[in-house]
Amino acid sequence: MGNPTGFKTIERQNAPERDAKLRILDWKEFHLDPPEEQLRDQGARCMDCGVPFCHTGDLMAGMATGCPINNLIPEWNDLVYRGRWREALDRLHKTNNFPEFTGRVCPAPCEGSCVLGIIEPPVAIKSIECAIIDKGFEEGWVVPNPPEKRTGKTVAVIGSGPAGLAAAAQLNQAGHKVTVYERDDRIGGLLMYGIPNMKLDKAEVVQRRVDIMEAEGIKFVTSCKVGDDITADELKKKFDAVVLATGATAPNDFFAKTPGRSLKGIHFAMDFLRPNTQKVMGDSPKGYISAKGKKVLVIGGGDTGTDCIGTSIRQGCEKVVTFEIVPQPPGERTASNPWPQWPRILRVDYGHEEAEAKFGDDPRQFSIQTLEFVGDAKGNVKSIKACKVDWSKPVKNGPPFSVVPNSEFEVEADLIFLALGFKGPEPTVAEQLGVEFDVRGNYQAEHEQYTTNVDGVFAAGDCRRGQSLVVWAINEGRGVARECDRYLMGSTKLP
Ligand code: FAD
Repeated sequence: MGNPTGFKTIERQNAPERDAKLRILDWKEFHLDPPEEQLRDQGARCMDCGVPFCHTGDLMAGMATGCPINNLIPEWNDLVYRGRWREALDRLHKTNNFPEFTGRVCPAPCEGSCVLGIIEPPVAIKSIECAIIDKGFEEGWVVPNPPEKRTGKTVAVIGSGPAGLAAAAQLNQAGHKVTVYERDDRIGGLLMYGIPNMKLDKAEVVQRRVDIMEAEGIKFVTSCKVGDDITADELKKKFDAVVLATGATAPNDFFAKTPGRSLKGIHFAMDFLRPNTQKVMGDSPKGYISAKGKKVLVIGGGDTGTDCIGTSIRQGCEKVVTFEIVPQPPGERTASNPWPQWPRILRVDYGHEEAEAKFGDDPRQFSIQTLEFVGDAKGNVKSIKACKVDWSKPVKNGPPFSVVPNSEFEVEADLIFLALGFKGPEPTVAEQLGVEFDVRGNYQAEHEQYTTNVDGVFAAGDCRRGQSLVVWAINEGRGVARECDRYLMGSTKLP
C-alpha cells in the first residue's frame, strides 16, 4: 500500500449528505460528492490485510460477510490514494457492472467486514466506490462497449431489475443477442420504482446505464407482462435460453386477519412508492397516493419502510411514525453485538434523520405489535391499536417474545403503509413453463448453478434467493449469465 500507516494517522470521514431540513424540500439525491483529497485520505486508511474480508462475501459461502460480488476493494482503495482513478474504475468494473447503484444504495457489508473495524471505524469503502464510478462518468470514461463478435445465440431475460440487467450485460458481452422483457413502463425493476429518487436518481443514474446497455446491443421491451402479453412458453420456443429475473414481488400481509385490515387508507408500500416515482418523473400515474396533511404510520422498519418515511415527508405529511416489532438496537457497541455485525446493526437511515429534522423526534417505535386497525363511519382508517412486546420473555412453544401486560395503546393514523417484506415471485411465468418452486416459495435453482428443472430456463435474483439486496442481485445476474453461457456454448469465459 502507498501509505502503510494511513490507518493509524487518518480518521474515517463519511461522505457528506445534504442537510436533512433542506433536502426534504425536493426529490434530488441526498448524497454529496466528497472532495477528492478526502477520498485519497480515506483510501489510504486501507490496511491491505493478508485476507481482505471486505471482498470475500461470495467466496465464504454461507457466511454473510464481505462484498457479494468480490469487489477488489484493497486494490482500488490504493489506486484512489495514488490518484490513478482510471485504473481504479477498470478494477471496479471487473467485478461490478453497476457500481453507481451499489455505491449509492448498498448497505456495504464490505464495511462490516473491514478488519480495521475491529479497533477503529471501518474504511469508507462505499463512498470511494461511488466516487470512482461518478468520476468515470464525469470524465467520459464509461462508454458503450459492444461485443466484437456475435455467437448467433439468443436469450430472453424476464425482468429488468439489477439481476436481469447484470445477466443481460454479461450475456451481451459474451456475444449473445439479449432481449429483456419488463412489464413496467421503464427499465430498472426496484432500482427504478422501488428505491426512491432521493436515494438513486432515475433519469441521471438508472436510465443513463440503461442507455449504455441499449447502445451495446441489448434490446429492451417495456410494458410487456410475460404470462399475459406474451406467454412464457412462446419465449421458450423463440429463444435459445430464458433467464427468469422477475424479483420477489408478492408482498407479505401479516395482518390479513387483523381486525380492520380492509379499511380504506391501508396500503402496501410499493403501491405508494411506485406511482410517487412516476409522478416525480413527470407522469400522471393511476393510483397515486398522497400523504399531504396525513398522519402516516409505517409498519416495518427495513429499507422499504425508510423509503415510505422519506417519501411521506417530501409529500408534506403532518406526522410520521413507524412501528417495528424488533427490539431497539443498542446505541453502543456491546459484547452481544461484536465485529463484524456492529457497523451494520445500528442504522439511523436517511428517512429517520429527516423525520427527526422535520418533527423533532425519532419516528421509530420498537417492540410494537399491531392489534387492530380502527375506522371511522365512512370506512376510512383513523387509528391503530397496538401493544408492547418483551423479547427477553419468549413464549414457550410460541413467539420469541411475550406481550407486555397492560401495554395496549392507540395512535391516530389516517394513512398506513405496510412494509413487511415480500413472499417471493408471482406464480404465472413459472406455471406456464413448469418451473418448480422451493419450500420458501421461490423458483427452485441452486446458488452458483441457477438452472431450474426446465431445460434452458435459469433463475436469478430475488425470485430465486428471496428478497435481498441490489448487490446480491448483481452477484446472481453475473452468475446466471456464466451458467447460461456455458449451457449455450459448452464452456464459458464469463467470471
Ligand atoms: P427486481 O428489482 O424486483 O426486478 C424484477 C423485475 O421483474 C421488476 O421490474 C418486475 O416488474 C419484473 N417482472 C416481474 N414479473 C414480470 C413478468 N411476468 N413480465 C415482465 N416483467 C416482470 N436493496 C439494497 O441493496 N439497497 C436498498 O437501498 C434497497 N432499497 C429497497 C427499497 C425498496 C422499496 C424495496 C422494495 C427493495 C429495496 N432493496 C434494496 C432490495 C433490492 O431492490 C432488491 O433486492 C433487488 O432489486 C432485487 O433485484 P431483482 O432484479 O432480483 O428484482
